[in-house]
Amino acid sequence: MTSDKTKGLPNVVIVGGGFGGLYAARGLADAPVRVTIIDKHNYHLFRPMLYQVATGLLSADEIAAPIRSILRKQKNVEVLMAEVVGVDPENQVVETVDGSSLHYDYVVLATGIHYNYFGHDDWKELAPGLDSVDDADRIRGKILSAFETAERKAAEPGADPQLLEDLLTFVLVGAGTAGVEMAGTIAEMARLALTGDFRHIDPRSAHILLFEAAPRILPSYPEKLSDRAHEHLRQIGVDVRTSARVENVDAAGVVVNGQRVGSRTVLWTAGVVASPAGRWLGAETDRAGRVKVNADLTVPGRSNVFVIGDTAAVVAPTRNLFGLRKGSRPLPGVAQPAIQEGKYVGRVIRSQVTGQSGPAPFWYWDKGNLAIIGRTFAVADLGFVRFSGALAWLLWLGIHIYFLIGFANRLQVMLQWAVSFWTKRRGVRIFPLDRKTGEEKSCEDRRAS
Ligand SMILES: Cc1cc2nc3c(=O)[nH]c(=O)nc-3n(C[C@H](O)[C@H](O)[C@H](O)COP(=O)(O)OP(=O)(O)OC[C@H]3O[C@@H](n4cnc5c(N)ncnc54)[C@H](O)[C@@H]3O)c2cc1C
Repeated sequence: MTSDKTKGLPNVVIVGGGFGGLYAARGLADAPVRVTIIDKHNYHLFRPMLYQVATGLLSADEIAAPIRSILRKQKNVEVLMAEVVGVDPENQVVETVDGSSLHYDYVVLATGIHYNYFGHDDWKELAPGLDSVDDADRIRGKILSAFETAERKAAEPGADPQLLEDLLTFVLVGAGTAGVEMAGTIAEMARLALTGDFRHIDPRSAHILLFEAAPRILPSYPEKLSDRAHEHLRQIGVDVRTSARVENVDAAGVVVNGQRVGSRTVLWTAGVVASPAGRWLGAETDRAGRVKVNADLTVPGRSNVFVIGDTAAVVAPTRNLFGLRKGSRPLPGVAQPAIQEGKYVGRVIRSQVTGQSGPAPFWYWDKGNLAIIGRTFAVADLGFVRFSGALAWLLWLGIHIYFLIGFANRLQVMLQWAVSFWTKRRGVRIFPLDRKTGEEKSCEDRRAS
């Protein structure tokens, strides 16, 4: 329970303990409100480093922390683990999956996105996307079990070379930041971390394929940086195919531009779609389902309903790193807009409950974009300057570790990273058997089918 001192104060319900929700809650520290933050998971996840968990470089607890422990010192906050299934703006209640409802005076929806399979939801099981700790564990299991199965099959007399090739072919669909970062990490995992561990296969022979339907990878980056990223991926052994549309996914692989590519490990890093917040509210959304919001991040016609982060379509005045105006533009689905919007909403609510004048309309401070590819290479687009290589990699590392929530995590991650860097090994190589799909079994089944 929140402390007795908060009794009778306005209720602020924040749905989602990701970047947007967490920073909104923090922005209300010491404000005269009762804050309830609801998340279907009990943890806040630092998603930018999730693929490091999926490829065994870090363990989940190094990039995730319980929301209630992050906010334990903020006495006006209560944390609830529950899945929200609806919002009733007329009666000002949030509804959870177990049938409970929670009254609010202000509600902040920060429920993020999920992957878009473009109408092929049956591909989800075959080509998982990376969005949660469970996904990361499952993907790590899928990758490592492919190597294990290949080793076992290769040891059998008369091993089927096609099966071995399919097992050692890793397909990534979509070359945005997540796809590029993931492809680079899998390539280095195969090339460096696993060498010497197997007796019948050479992990360096793994074929990592990155398919992108657009004419170039990292489409949101300047062309020069896309080209450099492409070239670096090629150097570390990733086979990048652009203008390559994945038309089908099944248990035996994918069909790309009409041609079949055999693979037992297909990972989805293509488009995203917003959480159903727009549907809950009956609000206007864009094509990706993101709620169109006002300049103060409220939903049109609802001055006490805010939508922020990946699930909001925000068009806002933007300034560069030095504070110079760049005009109004749609904000990208990355961590910084969510963080800044969360802080801003905290200020708006605080000003309303204390009777002070509200802040100016939201504007976005664009600090630039970074994507990391492998152990020592990254591309950096800081607006006024664009560069790639080791310096960009160091910048990526510093920023990401700085922003990790929780001091213990930062130290742990730095240490783990340093060890993996120098030894070229992966710390997290254990994976549970996927009881639901039975990874190993399914490979056999697929072969038979
Ligand atoms: C693999 C990956 C790599 C990325 N890399 C980068 C990067 O390098 N740099 C960068 O800036 N950004 C990166 N991003 C994007 C960044 O993580 C997001 O833009 C950011 O997390 C958005 O914050 P948010 O608060 O809107 O949503 P999230 O951080 O996604 O938080 C949403 C929260 O809502 C909860 N939730 C959802 N639905 C419900 C419900 N119905 N009931 C209760 N709780 C619910 C979820 O459990 C989650 O905790 C990456 C994302 C992914 C998936």
